[in-house]
Amino acid sequence: MSAADSVAAAVAQLRQSLAAGRLAHGYLVHGPVRTAGCRLLADFLPTLFCQAQDKPCGECAECRRVAAHEHPDILTLEPESKARMITIGEDENEGIRKVVRFISLTPFIGPWKVCVILDADRMNAAAANALLKTLEEPPPASLLFLLAESPQSLPPTVISRCQRLALGAEEGGGDEPWRAPLLEWLRAGPASDPLLQSVRAGQLGAILDAERERVAEAEEEAAKDEGQDKLVIAARVGARYRAVRATLLKALLLWHRDVLLRVLGVETGGFHYAAEAAAQQRQAAGLTPASALADVRRLEKLVQRLDQFPEASESALLGAGLPQRAK
Ligand SMILES: [Zn+2]
Repeated sequence: MSAADSVAAAVAQLRQSLAAGRLAHGYLVHGPVRTAGCRLLADFLPTLFCQAQDKPCGECAECRRVAAHEHPDILTLEPESKARMITIGEDENEGIRKVVRFISLTPFIGPWKVCVILDADRMNAAAANALLKTLEEPPPASLLFLLAESPQSLPPTVISRCQRLALGAEEGGGDEPWRAPLLEWLRAGPASDPLLQSVRAGQLGAILDAERERVAEAEEEAAKDEGQDKLVIAARVGARYRAVRATLLKALLLWHRDVLLRVLGVETGGFHYAAEAAAQQRQAAGLTPASALADVRRLEKLVQRLDQFPEASESALLGAGLPQRAK
């Protein structure tokens, strides 16, 4: 996916979440900060404040304020000083302290309070720690965007509390540990043998289990310092795991959309896994547009069901809901 496509996809995702009332409080935008990252903000932020019916109109007073970087409900912080660090700040007018205070205030114009931290990976440990509290207990109607080129240098506790948006990444998405095994799994493709198909469901389940463990370890590690009780930790692990699972399933869905495009004979453009043309062509062979579309629909339904049912039914839902081939 090109950088421009990834920005458009991320903006569309944010608008969708906004419309569904499901915006996260914290977003970690991973990619080139001052190009793709700032483009994303310029495209999305007006949507939050625009007063027109069709948002963003680009013309109303609010849209113009956002575009001019003069909106009183948006605060942008970036590294200062020679060391180019983001610090906690001496007082409430500086650094992360300023962010924490700003975001806790009632919106001036509203309906949102937005803080943007550019080069968030330049936060020192004290700054990240101070921000963590806000990420854990975000004030209502608050939104935090952390933009970072190397998010891996942020503490895992911060990363785990943000939803990730990858920009300008290579096709196939970011660098999460599940990407490689998932790609391997996707290349093999759906099976017609029911036994093989259930083995595949099990393999996907194992990839997800590994992620759940990773999330649980990170949260437990974080909780050691914070003295949180077990229920709080479990709730956080659950929420974080479901977010990871949603990203993973989206990667799976995008693969099947690619296959559909290939069945339709599309040759260039719009592919999420452009480098996987050979494997996708193999899977596309023998499919009709209707059956390739059915795979996509099936996965969309699976994603919905997984959201509706408790985690305990996950493996059963995977077993029944993955694309498969007729014998
Ligand atoms: Zn507007």
